[in-house]
Amino acid sequence: MAVLRIVKYPEKVLKTNSKRVESWSQDLSQLVMDMFETMYAVSGVGLAANQVGIPLRLAVIDVRPNGKSKKIVLINPKILGLDGKAEDSEGCLSLPGLYKKLERAAKARVLAYDQKGIPWEIRGRGLLARALQHEIDHLNGKVFVDRLPFMQKIRVQKEIKRYQPIWQQQVRPRLTTASS
Ligand SMILES: [Zn+2]
Repeated sequence: MAVLRIVKYPEKVLKTNSKRVESWSQDLSQLVMDMFETMYAVSGVGLAANQVGIPLRLAVIDVRPNGKSKKIVLINPKILGLDGKAEDSEGCLSLPGLYKKLERAAKARVLAYDQKGIPWEIRGRGLLARALQHEIDHLNGKVFVDRLPFMQKIRVQKEIKRYQPIWQQQVRPRLTTASS
């Protein structure tokens, strides 16, 4: 398993409408495992494949209900239904440190395939409902700040500018000892 580099906003792949997964290979299973490891390494609750530079309709989630780990794999997910409204603070591993209150549906029902190609339906409320909507947005080339009301979206760009030098440092490739 490997911890992958997480793409930071505004890298282009985050704005890409990701392609459907067409084949369930060993490579896909490996990618799923690496994405979980990458997400756990930074204490995230969700990670989409384009956040590790791969524009495929694949995301992983683990919101640890009652502190217990529960791995959720979403391949080619489709929202079947959204219900109610809930406002909560939201952040993203591609915009680390930035949190904003955002209104989303309170409940979500999603159809997806797992890493073995088996279709399954998931119903989420609370943090899980939010994570499902957040990750599916990623697959459609959207990040959470794109969903903020217009004026807030303009204001947040200034904040993002302040964060960017830090984010760019985090993405700089690590120097090997030989070149230091
Ligand atoms: Zn995100």
